[in-house]
Amino acid sequence: MKVQTTVRDVERALENVAPSRLAENWDNVGLMVGDRTALVTKILLALDPMAEVLAEAADSGCDCVVTHHPLFFTPLARMDLSEPVAREAAFCVAHGLTLLCAHTNLDKAPGGVNAQLANRLGLTEVTGLGPAQPVELCRVAAIAPPGRDKAVEKVLASFSSRRVESLSHRLEIRVEAVVARRDLTAVSAALKNAAPDSGGFLEAWPLLNHENAFHLGLVGRIPEPMTLSDLARWAGRRLSAPGVKSAGDPDLWVKRVAVCAGSGGGMVKSFYASGAQAFITGDVRYHDARDVAARGLGIVDVGHYASERLALHGLAEALAKEFARQDRAVDLIVSEREHDPFALAGA
Ligand SMILES: [Zn+2]
Repeated sequence: MKVQTTVRDVERALENVAPSRLAENWDNVGLMVGDRTALVTKILLALDPMAEVLAEAADSGCDCVVTHHPLFFTPLARMDLSEPVAREAAFCVAHGLTLLCAHTNLDKAPGGVNAQLANRLGLTEVTGLGPAQPVELCRVAAIAPPGRDKAVEKVLASFSSRRVESLSHRLEIRVEAVVARRDLTAVSAALKNAAPDSGGFLEAWPLLNHENAFHLGLVGRIPEPMTLSDLARWAGRRLSAPGVKSAGDPDLWVKRVAVCAGSGGGMVKSFYASGAQAFITGDVRYHDARDVAARGLGIVDVGHYASERLALHGLAEALAKEFARQDRAVDLIVSEREHDPFALAGA
């Protein structure tokens, strides 16, 4: 007998694959639209929560959609259905679809978008691109009122990647856990919600040890050294990218590359510091391309879509493993209607 799955269970599975604490501060990840208590039997995975993808989910009997890019980046002041974002949110509600997203947390996660991009390119000796962004940690302690210790433990466990400790003290139980410092407000709110008489956490103190650093890009050695022009063609084939642009000397000899899926243009300074000869990414601005070439280095733009799309199959596999481990019957499909918004002009 398989276990029933709710949206909250899907959120937990997604959290194990791509912890939300890894997301950049400007990002918006997790639940976009939906009811956490709703049942989920079939999930569609896509890069963007656009109308075609949501219609595909409804047509194929899905009750949940997980996308890489968030539906909401800026708060909506009104649900004006002439605006695509409001219309897409309304479509989800009307068709009972839950929409979740894993964006920069999935970019950085072990086995996430950049890890899969590096893997598809056969990179070896892989290290992080750019400065490490260690997660600052805190230890928090909460007092659980009698009979509420399990609820308090459950809340703290959902924010912690380590063991939650409970200590009995007279009639009360003190529960301690290590959480990300940036989650403190959310931890307090969740505790008050789960155990209103606990008053949130009792105390929190910062730790000197940080959690592992996760990077928005990676650097590694390509299987065979090659020129920049060959690299652009080779990367295009490996990533099924229909249109690849490169900047820099076509005969530049490349042994190591930096990679950053999606809009990696903002990472060029990290690329300069990485010692790699070329940078493979998905969105490059004109002046960044000029600057890279002027420094005697190379940059390859495979397109935002091609640099990220390959990650959906890896995400499907990772979620399938999570569900199998918990004996949950949830089907996962990858969108077939989604396409690159850019079309190449014919000659
Ligand atoms: Zn992207």
